[in-house]
Amino acid sequence: MSEIVTSEEGEVLDIELEEDFIKRNDELAAENRRLVDAYGVRVLDVMGSIGSGKTTLIEKLVSKLKDRYKIAVIAGDVATTIDADRLKKLNVPSIQVNTGRECHLDANLVKKALSKLDLKNLDLVFIENVGNLICPADFKLGAHFRLVVISVTEGPYVVSKHPLVFLEADVAIINKIDLAEAMEVEPDKLVEEIKRVKPWIKVVKTSLKKGLGIDEVVEALGL
Ligand code: MG
Ligand code: ZN
Repeated sequence: MSEIVTSEEGEVLDIELEEDFIKRNDELAAENRRLVDAYGVRVLDVMGSIGSGKTTLIEKLVSKLKDRYKIAVIAGDVATTIDADRLKKLNVPSIQVNTGRECHLDANLVKKALSKLDLKNLDLVFIENVGNLICPADFKLGAHFRLVVISVTEGPYVVSKHPLVFLEADVAIINKIDLAEAMEVEPDKLVEEIKRVKPWIKVVKTSLKKGLGIDEVVEALGL
């Protein structure tokens, strides 16, 4: 027989439910939005688990779009600069944000990062959120679009276990569909589940490393 441990009321320190934090964050996110709007800069918040393909998505989008738009990237990570180092190779301005212990970016960190960018010379800012499908959903950053990248390698229950992030997103990307059969995951079932959470969300199936689906993502973002 398996044992189940149930937490007592108040035992789980659940930052997501700290209403004051969220409220203060929402205010700062609105400030960020006013700031970027004043410069006509569009901001995209890219959420998703570690290894789902967030950095690869940003790399591909930047390569595709950098002739048409002036782009910068803000890369959030708990401690490493692995992604920031990859993104530097794209030759667009990039800001690394190390969150320390925090498993998400918040509007205050993004505000600091934005202050280091020359907004009047930019059209688009991609933000790579910390790899995590849970609390980034609660912390708005001031972005115009929120994307969530999942991968079929995360298994068939990734949507049902993390519905909130899909509810918060404008575009969902199901990545690594070339591996779907090996993973015994049906991408169309994931699409269905995502649409059940949020019927008006745009869903794109991709194999980003192979460059498949990038045009559809660009279209879904209206870029
Ligand atoms: Mg990454
Ligand atoms: Zn967090």
